[in-house]
Amino acid sequence: MSVEEQLVETAKQGKLLTHKCTNCGYLHLSTAYYCLKCGSKGFEDVILEGTGTIATYTIITVAPAGFEKYTPYAFVVLQLDNTHLRISGFMAGITTPADLPIGTKAKITGFDDRGIVVEKQ
Ligand SMILES: [Zn+2]
Repeated sequence: MSVEEQLVETAKQGKLLTHKCTNCGYLHLSTAYYCLKCGSKGFEDVILEGTGTIATYTIITVAPAGFEKYTPYAFVVLQLDNTHLRISGFMAGITTPADLPIGTKAKITGFDDRGIVVEKQ
């Protein structure tokens, strides 16, 4: 399986595949040749629980071609619990800011043709 396929499979289980520096422990979302923090080249896969809080988002009412069936939805940034990591994903059924206050607890629940799917916890 490619790293991309692993990411998709992990997201479908509600989790997030990350790459941890074996030297300093810094977590990376995508594969890197060198640790962004210490420059080491050693990494190991770490699977995190895909839970966190909504850091920011944009409501999409006019979707790109091919994604009209999903509107309205929000492009969200999820601050993951207990890490510095933020991931972007998509949440269905968001029409106004009242639907999704900043700081709402949310979690990864799947993966579709837009990317990672996030739902309120
Ligand atoms: Zn490191």
